[in-house]
Amino acid sequence: MQVLSEFSSEQKPFAFILSCIDSRSPVEIIFDQGIGDLFSARVAGNIINEDILASAEFAVNIVGAKLIMILGHTKCGAMGACLNQTKDGYLKKLIEKIEPTYLKYKNEVDSNAQPQDKLSEYNVLESMQILIDKSDILRQALRDKKIIIAGSIFHLDSGKVEVLRVLDKL
Ligand SMILES: [Zn+2]
Repeated sequence: MQVLSEFSSEQKPFAFILSCIDSRSPVEIIFDQGIGDLFSARVAGNIINEDILASAEFAVNIVGAKLIMILGHTKCGAMGACLNQTKDGYLKKLIEKIEPTYLKYKNEVDSNAQPQDKLSEYNVLESMQILIDKSDILRQALRDKKIIIAGSIFHLDSGKVEVLRVLDKL
């Protein structure tokens, strides 16, 4: 593990990527990145919570990552659980973080041929806004042009990453 020992004393990843736990969306493989290249935060439905915010702030403020990306994906089980109003265990708690977005865009999502995928898109875009609204540190970094924030969807069928929105200023 030559590469690992190279980075054992210091890390300087250029990006922080929040993605879903889905086994079909492994961030390093999708973007062809190696050890030491990315901060990778993964949680079902790539939702934002306080620990994710703290992790992103650490990546930007302490280590100097230049890109924050939220990467949703098609056929996301968490979006499906939200649409099916899953009531099981802690999953219900997680879905409560996606539900406001669903209710906000209910007409657009329900009328779409792929409601699950449409909700994934809105969830990514709303999450970008939540990052800026909640984190003073990330908002300031964006204002100072130290970071850009991108929202993307990984298409499981094609293997392509579609960039939905890029924020490079406030
Ligand atoms: Zn997912």
